[in-house]
Amino acid sequence: MIPVRGYEGRKVAVLGLGRSGLTAARALLAGGAAPCLWDDSPEARANAEAAGFALTDLTRADAWDDVATLVVSPGIPHLYPEPNKLIARAMAAGVPVDNDIGLFFRSWSTPEWDEMEQTPKVVAVTGSNGKSTTTALIHHILKVAGRPTQMAGNIGRGVLDIDPATDGEVVVLELSSYQTELARALTPDVAVFTNLSPDHLDRHGGHGGYFAAKRRLFAEGGPDRAVIGVDEVEGRFLANQLAQGPGDDRVIRISSGTKLEGPGWSVFARKGFLAEWRKGRQVAAIDLREVKGLPGAHNHQNACAAYAATRTLGLAPKFIEQALRSFEGLPHRSQLVGERGGVRFVNDSKATNVDSAAKALQAFPKIRWIAGGLGKDGGISALKPHLGSVVKAYLIGHSARDFALELGETPHEICETMDRAVARAAEEAEVGETVLLAPAAASFDQYPNFEKRGEDFAARVKALIGA
Ligand code: ADP
Repeated sequence: MIPVRGYEGRKVAVLGLGRSGLTAARALLAGGAAPCLWDDSPEARANAEAAGFALTDLTRADAWDDVATLVVSPGIPHLYPEPNKLIARAMAAGVPVDNDIGLFFRSWSTPEWDEMEQTPKVVAVTGSNGKSTTTALIHHILKVAGRPTQMAGNIGRGVLDIDPATDGEVVVLELSSYQTELARALTPDVAVFTNLSPDHLDRHGGHGGYFAAKRRLFAEGGPDRAVIGVDEVEGRFLANQLAQGPGDDRVIRISSGTKLEGPGWSVFARKGFLAEWRKGRQVAAIDLREVKGLPGAHNHQNACAAYAATRTLGLAPKFIEQALRSFEGLPHRSQLVGERGGVRFVNDSKATNVDSAAKALQAFPKIRWIAGGLGKDGGISALKPHLGSVVKAYLIGHSARDFALELGETPHEICETMDRAVARAAEEAEVGETVLLAPAAASFDQYPNFEKRGEDFAARVKALIGA
C-alpha cells in the first residue's frame, strides 16, 4: 500500500468503486485523507459497503463542499463521448479531477529514499497492443536478473496497492490511454510506447485524441529514457520530437521489421533476430526464433521494447537473452497450451479485434484457425491479406455465418461451439500445423470474458491430447 500524501484531513471524492477505486480509497485513508465514495451502480455501492466502506451520495450538491479533488476510475468517461455527470459537476465547480496513477506519482517517493544506495525507478508502458506482454516481460527480466521489482497498473494490482519501494527497486506499470489522459502527475523514469492502432476512439474523440492521451506519458518533465516503437507515423513523430538530434540516446527507437541503424540508439527485430545498435554500430544480437514464449513479429516487437527498457536499467545483453528464453508468455496471448504429433495448440483468446488477430495469423506458418464470437463493426474484411497462412477456419459463436461469408475461397466450416471446433481442427491438423484460437471477435455471446473463452479452449485441448 502506498499511502496517498498531500490530502491529510481533507475530503477527496472517489468515483467508481471497482478494484482501483477501492484501492485508492484505502490508500487515501492510510495517508490521513477523508475519502467520500460513490459509484453510479447500486451493485458496486453494495459491494463497497460489504467491504466495510461508508458511502457519500455525491449526487447531492452539498456533498461537494470542501472536496479537495475527485479521483475517478478508468472505465468512467471523463471527456468523450460525454463526461459522466458527476465528473462534469466537479469540473464546473473547479474541483481538480485525477486518478490513482496521479496520486501514485505524487506519493511514491519518501524521505527514506535519501538513505538508499540506488533510487527506485518506474518504467511505464503504454501503446495500443502488447502493453501487458511487454510489461510482464520487463518484470520477468528484472526478476531473473535479481533486481527487486513489482508490477502494477492495468495488469494485476492497482498502483496504490504495491508495497513501498525498497533500495534499487523497479516498478513496472502498464498504463492505458484512459489512465495517461487523466493523471495529474505522470513522471516515469523510463517510458515505453509500443505501437499505435485505432482503438477506443469514442472515448478520445478520434485517433488524434487517442494519440494525444498516450503522448502525455512523455510530456510532463520528460522521462530520462523513452523507448518508442517507430513502426507507425505517430511513433516516428514522437521520437523526433523528444530527441535533440540524431545521436540523442535518451530516445531508443524500436521496430519489428525495419532495420534502424544510424548514430542513435535502436533495437529492432528482423527475420527472427533482435539487434541492438548504438553510435553507428551493432552491440548485440539475439536469435528470437527459438524463444517459445514470444512467437511472431508482434511479440518480437514486445521483446525489443522490453530489451531496450531493461538495457537502460543497466542489464547486460546476455542476461536479458537468458531471461527471454524462460518467459512463458501471458495466458491468452499467443500462449502455447499443448503439442501433439507435431501439431501445436495456441491460445490467443485476447485477439478480440481484427488487428490483434492479424498479428496472430502472421505468427505461424500453417494455421487451423478457430475464430468467431461477437463480431465487431467492419467484420473481418481487413484480415483478407493475412489469410494466406490459414489452412482452414473453424467458426464459432454469433458471428460464424457472417465470417463464413467473408472468408470466401478460404476453406472453412461452421462449428458453432468451441468443443466442436477444437475436435474438428485437431482431427484434421497435420504435422507442422498450428491450431490457433484467435477469434477476431468479443467473447460475450458465449462466455463472460475472453479469459473464460481461452480457458475453455485450453481445457478442451488438454482433454483431447491428454496433456
Ligand atoms: P495489451 O495489454 O496492449 O492489450 P497484450 O499484450 O495483452 O496487449 O496483447 C493483446 C493482443 O494483441 C493479443 O492478442 C496479442 O497476441 C496481440 N499483441 C501482443 N503484442 C502485440 C504487438 N506488439 N502488436 C500487435 N499485437 C500484439
